[in-house]
Amino acid sequence: MPLISVVVPCYNEQEVLPALYAELRRVAGLMDCAEFEFCFVDDGSADATAELLRAWSREDGRVRFSSFSRNFGKEAAMLAGLRMARGDFVALMDADLQHPPEMLIEMYEAVKDGEYDCAAARRTAREGETKVRSGGSALFSKLMNALSDTEYVEGATDYRLMRRGMVEAVLSLPEYNRFTKGIFSWVGFKTKWIPYVSRERAAGETKWSFSKLLRYSIDGMMAFSTKPLALSSILGVISCAIAIITLLVTVVKTLIFGNPVAGYPTIVSLILLVGGLLMFFIGMLGQYLAKTYMEAKHRPIYIVRETEEGLK
Ligand code: UDP
Ligand code: MG
Repeated sequence: MPLISVVVPCYNEQEVLPALYAELRRVAGLMDCAEFEFCFVDDGSADATAELLRAWSREDGRVRFSSFSRNFGKEAAMLAGLRMARGDFVALMDADLQHPPEMLIEMYEAVKDGEYDCAAARRTAREGETKVRSGGSALFSKLMNALSDTEYVEGATDYRLMRRGMVEAVLSLPEYNRFTKGIFSWVGFKTKWIPYVSRERAAGETKWSFSKLLRYSIDGMMAFSTKPLALSSILGVISCAIAIITLLVTVVKTLIFGNPVAGYPTIVSLILLVGGLLMFFIGMLGQYLAKTYMEAKHRPIYIVRETEEGLK
């Protein structure tokens, strides 16, 4: 029988984990055409998440877990889970039941015969989310498509079931600054998008503040596009052209009409404008350089403290 691994990143999810585990067992019971393993990754939780996982892994041979030495972020947790998974099919889902486990049945139908390599959930509407956030994520998809060559489907979530081949492809990307959504699209493969309506979190609270989300979006764009770097050269050429034209106009005007009093305010604003643009682009250059610096260090993306086999 094929083995399906379900990877779940968990950060301070003690309130919702029991409900998720119950739901996963129910769905696994419904799908008797496959075997299951549950790969939980405790992303350095400060609550009882690790204790729960430890207890379950003792009772239930299907439960495996990795517990990080500190919080390394969802990207690192997803990577650890994908590395841990031994299944012929690997699913990735959030712990908070916003990704309904029963969708696995439909996803498995799509990938089991190899018609698709991946079945992924696409959010069509969101319950209980602020306008700012859903507007922000729509804007992000648009920008991402404009900036990078990889196609970015609006409402795409991380919730998906992949065949082993695609998982290996995702794991073959060694980068430190990981943006999994972009990576999924970059590796290609045939993906079936299954629409669903996102529910409110079953319990606990979101781990993403607005500023964390904004930073994540900027990181994602930088990881998949170098177009912003080219923008500064283009603007530089344009402003040089304007400067040459105004210079010529000034010289000709002075020769013909003499030199009337110059406009200081114009000069001051232009200096500010050019200075500001320069600073902005030097800053952006610095951001890319910082990413390269972090990549060049070759640090591990996460550190595991404990697994179901015991402390490291
Ligand atoms: N998560 C994680 N590490 C973090 C933040 C979040 O592993 O540093 C996990 C979290 O436990 C959950 C998933 O990522 O399973 C999505 O988080 P959340 O539901 O808070 O995000 P949202 O649904 O609000 O985007
Ligand atoms: Mg959530």
